Amino acid sequence: MRLLKEISTFKIGGPALSIAEAKTVAEMSSLLKEVYPRRMLVIGKGSNCLFSDQGFNGLVILNKIDFISSIKPIITVGAGFSFALLGSRTARAGFTGLEFAAGIPASVGGGIFMNAGANGQEAADTLISVDFLNEKGELFTFLKKDLDFSYRYSSFQGMKGAIVSATFGLTKDPLAREKQLKIIDYRQRTQPYGEPSIGCVFRNPIGDCCHSAAALIDQAGLKEVAIGGAKVSEKHANFIINPKGLATASDVEALIKIIKEKVFAHAGILLEEEIRKIAFES
Ligand SMILES: Cc1cc2nc3c(=O)[nH]c(=O)nc-3n(C[C@H](O)[C@H](O)[C@H](O)COP(=O)(O)OP(=O)(O)OC[C@H]3O[C@@H](n4cnc5c(N)ncnc54)[C@H](O)[C@@H]3O)c2cc1C
Repeated sequence: MRLLKEISTFKIGGPALSIAEAKTVAEMSSLLKEVYPRRMLVIGKGSNCLFSDQGFNGLVILNKIDFISSIKPIITVGAGFSFALLGSRTARAGFTGLEFAAGIPASVGGGIFMNAGANGQEAADTLISVDFLNEKGELFTFLKKDLDFSYRYSSFQGMKGAIVSATFGLTKDPLAREKQLKIIDYRQRTQPYGEPSIGCVFRNPIGDCCHSAAALIDQAGLKEVAIGGAKVSEKHANFIINPKGLATASDVEALIKIIKEKVFAHAGILLEEEIRKIAFES
């Protein structure tokens, strides 16, 4: 039985009942038809998922649909394609819109599902349309205007199925790569790259631009606080890291609880999780 820790950037998670890969839209559709109405989960790069120590009582489908059209202002890409690579290829080709993606270890599908963002850009900004298979394996094309996006939210979070491809519209900008290199440099200096994590654990408090979650955690004196194998990063307090690969989901949950309590006691702000917690069953 394969462990979910093998497919998570956090290196945490127990066994899945079964794991399958979909390399094409047809394969994804067949898998969804086969498993319906039983429990399933579509995963990209596992860079935002806290999997349970118990594992997952269903089928985990790894999205490996990774085709890409030629790099032009309008570009269509499989949802399993690397979001980081999409960002760097488009910026190198002199297009602006996805520079921020170069530092995010996501799939394109996961980037859209979470409306991933950084440096004033987010996935939805340049999105034109998304091809989506519902849980019965039926294909739909959604235009961006048919969907809702906001801070780390997309309509897909309320739908069951798989994002299989997306089309983005980009604009020419000879300075795109230069801008991107600055973004990458800043991230490498300020984030714990190379340490197992799932990125920022908490949302930045809405409407409170003066208090980032990282600053609130830092001010509450929580940098480097650890429980079991899970530790608040010294480099960026909104990252929980698993430096030795020994942390459990329970360690992370316990650390999250302490952070929320201490930040509330210190600043009167209740932090909310940004990460996806994947329960054994629901
Ligand atoms: C070092 C590091 C830096 C990060 N920096 C950022 C950042 O700057 N900005 C930011 O927003 N995030 C950041 N993240 C978090 C993470 O990369 C994003 O949330 C990303 O969008 C997740 O993509 P994924 O493919 O890994 O999704 P996964 O973790 O695999 O899945 C996340 C959710 O999306 C769903 N999902 C994934 N693919 C599909 C699909 N094809 N169809 C339907 N549902 C799907 C899953 O079921 C799950 O609920 C960072 C993470 C790390 C580890």
